[in-house]
Amino acid sequence: MNIHEYQAKEIFARHGLPVPPGEVATTVGEAVALAGKFGLPVMVKSQVLTGGRGKAGGVKFCKTIDDVKENASNILGMDIKGHIVRRVLVTPALDIASEFYIGMLIDRTSQRVLLMCSAEGGMEIEQVAKDKPEAILKLAIDPRYGLLDHEALELGLKMCPGEVKKARQMANAMQKLYTVFLAADASLAEINPFIFTPDGVGHAIDGKVSFDDNAMYRHADYEALRDLEAEDPAERQAREANLSFVKLEGNVGCLVNGAGLAMATMDLVKYYGGQPANFLDIGGSSNPEKVVNALRIILQDKAVKVILFNIFGGITRCDDVANGIIKATEMMTIDVPIVVRLTGTNEAEGRALLSKTKLHPAETMDEAVQKAIALAG
Ligand code: GDP
Ligand code: MG
Repeated sequence: MNIHEYQAKEIFARHGLPVPPGEVATTVGEAVALAGKFGLPVMVKSQVLTGGRGKAGGVKFCKTIDDVKENASNILGMDIKGHIVRRVLVTPALDIASEFYIGMLIDRTSQRVLLMCSAEGGMEIEQVAKDKPEAILKLAIDPRYGLLDHEALELGLKMCPGEVKKARQMANAMQKLYTVFLAADASLAEINPFIFTPDGVGHAIDGKVSFDDNAMYRHADYEALRDLEAEDPAERQAREANLSFVKLEGNVGCLVNGAGLAMATMDLVKYYGGQPANFLDIGGSSNPEKVVNALRIILQDKAVKVILFNIFGGITRCDDVANGIIKATEMMTIDVPIVVRLTGTNEAEGRALLSKTKLHPAETMDEAVQKAIALAG
């Protein structure tokens, strides 16, 4: 789960990171009032769940109240990579002498939290990683000891050679960010940029935190941070229906039981030259309601030209699944062809049931995928 910059900064502030004050506005009038409260100049910053807002014109420096009016009215309602801006953060604009990147994520290779920092701050770190990977310093934090003082200071000094006061502030920010990371059960926490003003004082002026969805049960308060309007509607419905779903760009709608099989199905669709429209794991049940929910979510995407069921019957029997699919397809009108591959317990019985319908049965995964791609055109 992703949260907005202003929410991330609230968490940062609670853990003692140096964050400038700021508040969100949903109208131009509110933005003007906040500019009055904080004093000019201010930054007006779009709050959307995507990066690169600055480049898209969604982060503006405002010297006068007229600037605030103009920028707030331009930014509110702006479309940034498909995200409509519904709120802006108004925050005092600081004079920037230098910008840095500090970030952490879970690194599967080292099986640790990986700290990354760079003097190439402010830019998208993915771009820096591509163009100038040597500009990113990395440290896999040992969970037994945490981020030790000397480790953080060493990195700080590499970022700010010969400037011990700045290096200490950076080191401190890294250690605080690590406490945020652990306390929040984050999968990612970033300060980009961490800046120094000309007086040599450090500030975290942009923040990003993603929570590990598997730890949500430990943080009842996170539900309140969820911005339902900013979420993809299909992904929201899937979450509410307890389905793991990720929307993709293709036209083959996939309905699969089991995450591993769902991944393998997507791989095979790609292998035969098709494009999956989604990842969807309906879990281990033949419950027609679940199938209906899944079909509704997939069919909202007008790009979907075919539905591909790939079901492995283990404890769930294939004839039950077939009945579930048949019932589900009777409960709604579907104008795209449906390919169904059932294998496992009672597969012959399952296929016999399907053969009496308009559904396209398939025996093997290869056959099912190729059929689906052909039907998608
Ligand atoms: P992002 O583009 O979504 O990462 O948004 P950021 O909050 O990182 O802002 C983008 C850029 O705007 C920063 O890298 C800074 O160069 C600039 N910026 C952000 N806040 C301030 C500020 O308070 N003062 C000044 N002068 N520039 C700022
Ligand atoms: Mg940024």
